[in-house]
Amino acid sequence: MTEIRYWNGEGCIGKLISDVVVRSEIGTYYALDLGGTNFRVLRVQLGGRRSSILSQDVERRPIPRHLMTSTSEDLFDFIASTLKQFVEKEESGSEPSSVRARELGLTFSFPVKQLSIRSGILIKWTKGFAIEDMVGEEVVGLLEAALIRRGLYMRVAVLVNDTAGTLALGHYDDADTVAAVIIGTGTNACYLERADAIIKCQGLLTTSGCMVVNMEWGNFWSSHLPRTSYDIDLDLESPNPNDQGFEKLISGMYLGDIVRRVILRMSQDSDIFGPVSSRLSIPFILQTPLLAAMHEDDSPELKEVDKILKETLEISEVSLKVRKLVVRICDVVTRRAARLAAAGIVGILKKIGRDGSGGITGGRSRSDVKMRRTVVAIEGGLYTSYTMFREYLHEALNEILGEDVAQHVILKVTEDGSGIGGALLAAAYSSGG
Ligand code: ADP
Repeated sequence: MTEIRYWNGEGCIGKLISDVVVRSEIGTYYALDLGGTNFRVLRVQLGGRRSSILSQDVERRPIPRHLMTSTSEDLFDFIASTLKQFVEKEESGSEPSSVRARELGLTFSFPVKQLSIRSGILIKWTKGFAIEDMVGEEVVGLLEAALIRRGLYMRVAVLVNDTAGTLALGHYDDADTVAAVIIGTGTNACYLERADAIIKCQGLLTTSGCMVVNMEWGNFWSSHLPRTSYDIDLDLESPNPNDQGFEKLISGMYLGDIVRRVILRMSQDSDIFGPVSSRLSIPFILQTPLLAAMHEDDSPELKEVDKILKETLEISEVSLKVRKLVVRICDVVTRRAARLAAAGIVGILKKIGRDGSGGITGGRSRSDVKMRRTVVAIEGGLYTSYTMFREYLHEALNEILGEDVAQHVILKVTEDGSGIGGALLAAAYSSGG
């Protein structure tokens, strides 16, 4: 079994995450994927060869809003109950698994200080979660306690985040996968790095010579990033000011609210939207799927824009010209986000020598360099469900890399990859594995 060490970006090295591995594992494995607006429970049946998932079942549930700011016990009890129902429903009619404990991968997509492959401490919440009693606590222990309270016996075999899960599935399906990117409610990425290129990990060798680096890129910041007064206000009024700066420019949780802020300012400074609607002052009332629907409205009269302005923002009777202006605002905000995400992806490719610039010497042009097929696994509702966002991201990749290089870079959607990958890694680290 080849192996990869997992480095969580906080300088803490967990145990080994195998080289995605799961070539010989057979049996049924579970995963729980928690990290945004929805959580998923999953069950995967493995057939024993690479890329041989015999079957998979996924159940998605929205996280009730009040649980995002309640107590860890409330949150995990809710999750454990859902998991229990799922397991019992799936197993009804089949033999109870008495021979072997059920193995579970926990995909938990918040910044964690990884202590081992199956334990880690929550550093901070992001994406609108704020459960104070959980910060600084060991996550797997809290889940296991809730499972015991619900009378469900499962062994948590791995603790990973959505990027590592997505990379695991991506690599299981396609060995050319070098990185995983999530662009959903939040955003993050991880990539495969040569172990000897990681300064913090000097001396810790792996048989594969590689490690997975969890970038936590949502928290990236640089003074070169284009922050407007709308971004500054959004950040100041968020539950986590001065934090997750890159994420606040890019991800689905925030884009709709940036557009709301721009419309509010325009409405206050002019009369183009009529009297200022009180709805415009309600944070997050304009969710990103609504922004997408306005942006992608191709009706000549922009009927969808009109409907959303009326129904969501209580702004009525605006002229076609103003509706066009709203579409333009959506376009600017979305295009900026997509281009920043593309720049992040190119940053990874550059770091690992897959941006086509490696090895260019003495007069050789970019097109002379033999570029290896390079796959980036990608997941998240903003990328998968918002066509304009996706197109702008691809356009920017082509623009930055150049078409000769970009044609070798494949963004591959791994549906439910973060959870399925969690189950694959649970298989790789199962007590019998
Ligand atoms: P999560 O990141 O919450 O685990 P997803 O990957 O499904 O789950 O991403 C959900 C996010 O994707 C939503 O919060 C929303 O911002 C965004 N999203 C979902 N559907 C659309 C859509 N049609 N258009 C634009 N954004 C969308």
